[in-house]
Amino acid sequence: MTTLAIDVGGTKFTVAVFADDRMVSRIQRATDREAGGASTLAAIEEIVRGLRREFRFDRCGIGFGGPVRFGEQRVALSTHVGGWNDVLLPARIAAVADAPAVMDNDANVGALGEFAYGAGRGASPLLYVTLSTGIGGGIVLDGSVLRGPDSWAGEIGHLNVEPDGPECLCGSNGCLERMCCGLWLERDTGRTAKEWTHDEAFMRGYVIPLARGLKAAIMLLNPARIVIGGGISKAGDLLFRPLRAELARQMPPWSEARVDVQPAQLGDDSVLWGALELARLEGA
Ligand SMILES: [Zn+2]
Repeated sequence: MTTLAIDVGGTKFTVAVFADDRMVSRIQRATDREAGGASTLAAIEEIVRGLRREFRFDRCGIGFGGPVRFGEQRVALSTHVGGWNDVLLPARIAAVADAPAVMDNDANVGALGEFAYGAGRGASPLLYVTLSTGIGGGIVLDGSVLRGPDSWAGEIGHLNVEPDGPECLCGSNGCLERMCCGLWLERDTGRTAKEWTHDEAFMRGYVIPLARGLKAAIMLLNPARIVIGGGISKAGDLLFRPLRAELARQMPPWSEARVDVQPAQLGDDSVLWGALELARLEGA
């Protein structure tokens, strides 16, 4: 079984090939944000055409960096790159790959990847949170993604964690994404994520609004495990140690819900492995 897996992110996109559950090819490119979605799509199609000289695909899985109308298999929008609204991305990929394709948003797909192959193996419910350009969340319950009737579940990035905080792109104030994502913090601090994630004092403050968001999720879901991925999770202990301590401080003393927060194991490839699992589950 040969699976084409595609991860379309806000700053880069990756195309991989799996032979059964072995990754045999991986091609990554930077996203040209100025040029927009059409140029990214054209670049992906070009790569897939090239791969078809070497592989015959049985199915394709896609993780897209923005909300997806799962039932219609259509991109709703990308909040970071223009030109993606309403694109029938799986249909376009299926046409060039000559194999059926299925898509979900990248946080849901990353959650599936960590559930099936990574740090969340066997955990149910599993909450996966990606701390990256933006912030996304995905919930896996009994082995499949909990999407809700409108395929809009898991959008943890827009929980209000600082009601008097600065305005978010969504029009609300002090959303988790506004307070904790890479894009905004680089603007707010004038420093790159690499710089502030290595600043111990900064990270002690960073985890406070982050823990508020995760606490809300724990109170609601009692997840068996929370797995955190995305570029900011690479801060390692500088993130996870103060985060676990802050969560323990914020949780009500009477709650017996576990606080099990672990870094993603699949690094930059959670979404690719999840795309493999999504294609398998959906029989694409
Ligand atoms: Zn918001």
